Amino acid sequence: MKRYSHFIAGAFTTLSDEKIDSIDPASGRVWSQISRGTGADAELAIRAADHALRRGDWANAGPSDRALLLERIADHLETNWHRLVEPEIRDNGKRIAEVRAQFAGLQHWYRHFAKEARKIRVEPQDNHLGGVESETHFLPYGVVVAITPWNSPLMILTWKLGAALAAGNTVVVKPSELASASTLEFAALLHEAGLPAGVVNVVTGYGHEIGEALVRHPLTRKVTFTGSDLGGRKVAAAAARNVVPATLELGGKSAQVVFADADIENTANGILSGIFSSNGQSCVAGSRLIVEAPLKHALISRLVSRAKALEPGDPMNPATQIGPLANEPHLAKVLRMIAQAKNDGATCLLDGTAMTGSRPGYYVGPTIFDDVTTDMQLWREEVFGPVLAVTSFDTEEQAVALANDTDYGLAGGVWTADPAKGARVASRIDAGTVYVNHYRSVAPGAPIGGLKLSGYGRELGPDAVKDFLQTKSVWIGKAPVPDPFPHD
Ligand code: NAD
Repeated sequence: MKRYSHFIAGAFTTLSDEKIDSIDPASGRVWSQISRGTGADAELAIRAADHALRRGDWANAGPSDRALLLERIADHLETNWHRLVEPEIRDNGKRIAEVRAQFAGLQHWYRHFAKEARKIRVEPQDNHLGGVESETHFLPYGVVVAITPWNSPLMILTWKLGAALAAGNTVVVKPSELASASTLEFAALLHEAGLPAGVVNVVTGYGHEIGEALVRHPLTRKVTFTGSDLGGRKVAAAAARNVVPATLELGGKSAQVVFADADIENTANGILSGIFSSNGQSCVAGSRLIVEAPLKHALISRLVSRAKALEPGDPMNPATQIGPLANEPHLAKVLRMIAQAKNDGATCLLDGTAMTGSRPGYYVGPTIFDDVTTDMQLWREEVFGPVLAVTSFDTEEQAVALANDTDYGLAGGVWTADPAKGARVASRIDAGTVYVNHYRSVAPGAPIGGLKLSGYGRELGPDAVKDFLQTKSVWIGKAPVPDPFPHD
């Protein structure tokens, strides 16, 4: 069995002997162990990151040196990404087809951040004053703590790491205790690519133990967090104690608004991909289907028959269409929410719980509920599983009101043959990302982040690197300073 330890200052190391079992969700069996980090491990990792900040190899690396390093990481990933696939699948059960697609593309994100690094330069300021010039300098924060969830550990880390390194910070990563292996393997790969020791460190363990210790550490200068809104609130509160900024990428309860004129085949593909890819364990999962009444019957019959035909199996098998949920407590939560929806009177059109227990591992199949009302838990709370809540509308006003009737604001979709209506409704949905006749894409140039309980701050997009930089105004006198108190 593989035993992982922290990766600190360029080497695998650990202070404590305590381990956490990593369970393969496809079998329910322990496949590896990670270190259960303590405050002492947090101290070691933060000190290593702080030391690297001042060491010449990183401190003197300007934006173009950092860009070259990011390109070396991209090159190394291009030939070695396949090493990361199995550790991630063994931890979180994501289907190999999805993981391969994500990882084969990881290099492109690092090439993008290399380009962004090259854009960092001193900018002249327009100061409207005579006799003095001023300019804006951009400085890294210093030690950044990056905390990630279990659903797409490496992809989410890449958005944080690429930007933080382009900006010249050093980083301590705390992956989810439920899926740390791929991040630890990736840390080794970064160092093979030539990243100086201590620039990226990875420590593992529970959020309330080592995660909180990292955020509270006085040398931590910035926090970037992706996870639940519960975790996000704790992290933001802990960061605030040291007056440290936090970027929070949290959960969602995203709406798919479908008008009767939408292309039904295209829409069905978008809805199915939005809620059943990654078994609904996606922050932008389109979990609320709001469909115009005349199309409802035809659309949901199509969704039910297509979803019913999806084949469960081993996530390592490329033919598998439905893998397990990522862990046992999560399966229990999803099953509880399905039972609650039934109790609340929603109509279960497709019940994925029949799959649970029919095979080893933490499986639940695609589940579709109709007649979901806005007071039900299924409407209000994130399931983070393959459960679609359906309701219908008669007017555009109703559709927008239903879409916005949520505490979250991460994403949304609009499906219509009328481009003007698509644009109008997209502009009225309160979410950080809205797709029209499309769903679920992410790209380096497109900022991602939420409104309301889905968090604050943005990743990706044109300001991604700036989020990891602080500005400094430097004034340079060009004329003698006049006597401030002249005598007549
Ligand atoms: P989680 O909040 O339970 O854990 C996320 C990470 O935070 C883990 O590494 C955990 O150990 C750590 N953590 C928890 N409490 C902490 C604390 N007090 N101090 C420091 N660290 C702490 O979330 P999860 O269950 O791993 O992930 C699922 C959630 O993530 C869902 O809500 C999902 O929507 C969200 N998510 C959001 C995005 C996005 O981009 N907005 C992307 C993926 C997942």
